[in-house]
Amino acid sequence: LTVSGGGFLAYSGAKSFFGPDSSLQDDRKRVIVLGTGWAGTTFLKNLDSTQYDVKVISPRNYFAFTPLLPSVTVGTVEARSIVEPIRNIIKKKLGNVGFLEAECYEIDAKNKKVHCRSTQKTGLEGKEEFIVDYDYLVVATGARANTFNTPGVEEHTHFLKEIEDAQNIRRNVIDCFERANLPNLSDEERKNNLHFVVVGGGPTGVEFAAELHDFLEEDLSRLYPQVKDFVKITLVEAADHILNMFDKRITAFAEEKFQRDGIDVKLGSMVVKVNDKAISTKERSTGLVQHIPYGMVVWSTGIGTRPFITNFMKKIGQGNRRVLATDEWLRVEGEDCDGIYALGDCATINQRKVMDDIAAIFKKADKDNSGTLTVKKLQEVMEDICERYPQVKLYLKNKRMKNIVALLEESKGDDNKESKEFDIERVKTALSAVDSQMKNLPPTAQVAAQQGQYLAKCFNRMKECDQNPEGPLRIRDEGRHRFHPFRYRHLGQFAPLGGEQTAAQLPGDLVSIGHSSQWLWYSVYASKQVSWRNRLLVISDWGKRFVHGRDSSR
Ligand code: FAD
Ligand code: MG
Ligand code: MG
Ligand code: MG
Ligand code: MG
Repeated sequence: LTVSGGGFLAYSGAKSFFGPDSSLQDDRKRVIVLGTGWAGTTFLKNLDSTQYDVKVISPRNYFAFTPLLPSVTVGTVEARSIVEPIRNIIKKKLGNVGFLEAECYEIDAKNKKVHCRSTQKTGLEGKEEFIVDYDYLVVATGARANTFNTPGVEEHTHFLKEIEDAQNIRRNVIDCFERANLPNLSDEERKNNLHFVVVGGGPTGVEFAAELHDFLEEDLSRLYPQVKDFVKITLVEAADHILNMFDKRITAFAEEKFQRDGIDVKLGSMVVKVNDKAISTKERSTGLVQHIPYGMVVWSTGIGTRPFITNFMKKIGQGNRRVLATDEWLRVEGEDCDGIYALGDCATINQRKVMDDIAAIFKKADKDNSGTLTVKKLQEVMEDICERYPQVKLYLKNKRMKNIVALLEESKGDDNKESKEFDIERVKTALSAVDSQMKNLPPTAQVAAQQGQYLAKCFNRMKECDQNPEGPLRIRDEGRHRFHPFRYRHLGQFAPLGGEQTAAQLPGDLVSIGHSSQWLWYSVYASKQVSWRNRLLVISDWGKRFVHGRDSSR
């Protein structure tokens, strides 16, 4: 790996930095991985690093198990327990793998270079800047919290994205209690100090509100008996329901549980402004604006694109998009993007529409060139269509339809159902209906991790495929692609609701809510830890909490 840039060379020297067996002498390609989150770390763990010269660059020298971040905010789990040092992961890899603690601030796709800046000051000149060359670039830099440009949010609220955020929130909750407990406050002031507002009714906001409620009920009310009656939690959501992406049964259960718990759920309310004392909400239906005093606000309304990615998008011709787009092989689409891949929260897959390829599909189906489509002909290509356009398979499954014939039957009531011949226009109508219901994959750890694993597999087989281009990995009719496109497998999703109750939405329309799912949650999250060290720490934190309660020192 070659590194240029004045200051950097002065400190360590390119050659010694990359070790004696640096790839300067061999033909191993240089892979740069940006980010040590779910996507980047899973890629790294699964990559056969003996085939490449690998450099990981991230401002965080650790991986964080984000699903347990809400638990860190109230001390159910300790921050240290859910992070794994990236160097622990690297030391287990063979070959040339290095790490630089820095953030990328510019991708120069034309010259295949990334510009980086260290996170810490390294000398009198301040932060070190350097440039690294790549043959392959894996962009896995995640997303940032989205404020929707609401005034005051950046300054006065807490995000819940990083370990530091969770630790700050924990300190702040305790601070609010200690402040409210001081002798000269009026009841009004105590009430304001103990008003906790959560903005955003998605899984993160809901889970945090639930954790906070448990912490107040189980621990703080006993420690601060004089002020416990002043405590209030408000959850603000702009849509008509919380947990929109979940099954209706889960949403209903969560809303009822929160009501019983005394959590005030304000639906259909948008936050329009935040200042140092109050948060202003506007009711969507009535336009009513309210200024509500608060002690602490946690902002969890979704994610946005990082500024350096936005700049990169402008340069490669994706300036009119909101999120960086890749094809289904996770390759970034655009000018000079050869060798650049993006995965996880920082990117979205531009799924191929059936309608884009409809002419080719018809041509393929119509083997005898008769210009007519029969059920038989369509059935024969159906398997391939479902493989290449997973939205078709999903659509048929959701509608509980067995095959394309049922789909066509639904698309238009035909006078002659016996007819085994299909009108091409009818097929088109049906398929474009399928296209229009295509959804982007959600920004979850599950998606990011599966993408990391998939891309590593592609990288591991790249050489094999180059040497054996007609090998079994090549998809039959698509010479230019050597691998199957990325396919997501949804394994279910949890929504912890507090009080040892969790809602679980599992594949196949299965919904389970209550204490039994809580145990499923404990076991799944314990098993998903990236190392045995983390697993042990997390389980022991849970045990400690059962026995002694949570620690309430700041
Ligand atoms: P991240 O994990 O965010 O990693 C991004 C990495 O890039 C970080 O290491 C960051 O430091 C680094 N980086 C940032 N900028 C730069 C730069 N300029 N240059 C280099 N590196 C950079 N998902 C689930 O599936 N289940 C859950 O229960 C769940 N719970 C969640 C709870 C919370 C509180 C949060 C915040 C998220 C949760 N998620 C959950 C979502 C999940 O965490 C994300 O979808 C996942 O982290 C995305 O992975 P990623 O690798 O794309 O990004
Ligand atoms: Mg990542
Ligand atoms: Mg992460
Ligand atoms: Mg992220
Ligand atoms: Mg994504």
